[in-house]
Amino acid sequence: MTAFANHKAVIVGAGAVGSQCAASLMMLDLVDEIVLIDVDPGCARAQAMDLDDMASGLKQRVAVRVGSYDDCADAQFVIMTAGRSRRPGQSRRDMLAATMNIMQPISQSIKASGFDGILISVTNPADVVAEYLYRQLGLPRTRVFGTGTALDTARLRRLVSEHTGISRQHIQAFALGEHGESSFVWGSHMTIEGIPLQEFYRVHPQVERLRMSEVNKQVRQRGGDIVAGKGKTEYGISTVVTDIVSAIIHDERCVMPLSVHLDGEYGESGLSISVPCVVGANGIEELLELSLSQREREWLHDSCEAIRGYAGAVLEQ
Ligand code: NAD
Repeated sequence: MTAFANHKAVIVGAGAVGSQCAASLMMLDLVDEIVLIDVDPGCARAQAMDLDDMASGLKQRVAVRVGSYDDCADAQFVIMTAGRSRRPGQSRRDMLAATMNIMQPISQSIKASGFDGILISVTNPADVVAEYLYRQLGLPRTRVFGTGTALDTARLRRLVSEHTGISRQHIQAFALGEHGESSFVWGSHMTIEGIPLQEFYRVHPQVERLRMSEVNKQVRQRGGDIVAGKGKTEYGISTVVTDIVSAIIHDERCVMPLSVHLDGEYGESGLSISVPCVVGANGIEELLELSLSQREREWLHDSCEAIRGYAGAVLEQ
């Protein structure tokens, strides 16, 4: 990977998610330069102006402007958010055809720029887009991956926190698999600061046990509930993106679930799906192939089969 002179992020898609990612990166002082690209140049320009106004109130200096795909050449990050918000009642899978139509020219332009950084993909259907971009860009899988179930994981931790009364920052729990419809909770490894959930229950007999099928349902449903109310989701995902960027810039070597191309891990190949990854300076430093219960193994396989089922044509290309 190129050694970058500064921390530059190109955000493709300057809509709700793209602009919120830009705002979060700026407020957390994670990058020096943000470039917005959008098929609607008026929208990109307006978002850049608005963000630049916000920059006036920040202590740190960060440049934000509209650009072109040539800007990817020396970018450390490309953040893919092009597409459109999910409509109420629509599933992420329903977005496949429209999304793939725009991803082909976008990926060609990014590749033509000579981009040699790390691409973080957000656009839905998240796992299919991540896999498609990985295949098109010709970069290692450790540098082209999707946010996957990192957002589902944030939703899971909130839920476990409400249930146990322990703050969410002290809960270790992952949602894995497909982002959305068939994600599942890695319940066999859920801990509170290393204390297994079962042990927490033993000393708190009054706390009702979480039922994993119910947890899976609630985690999967959360995005749809937000979309039903406001026609999009933006804040949760922007925190996920800034967490990943921070982990890379600060070489945090933290563990988070990301949608990455599998090559035999967990007995699966030929698609991207979320598994626990170590994230550091080089992007995904390691895919962790951890033990799953028999039921979790089935859920992961079902999740892979679900993606193959609706996105087979893309994955066979
Ligand atoms: P939005 O409609 O607000 O913004 C999308 C932007 O992409 C628009 O400004 C649009 O003009 C632009 N765009 C469309 N086609 C383009 C092209 N060919 N080139 C460049 N730009 C193009 O939508 P949003 O709410 O920001 O959502 C963006 C994507 O992120 C959607 O696919 C959404 O489902 C997804 N999303 C994913 C997660 C996740 O957890 N993975 C969470 C939230 C949203």
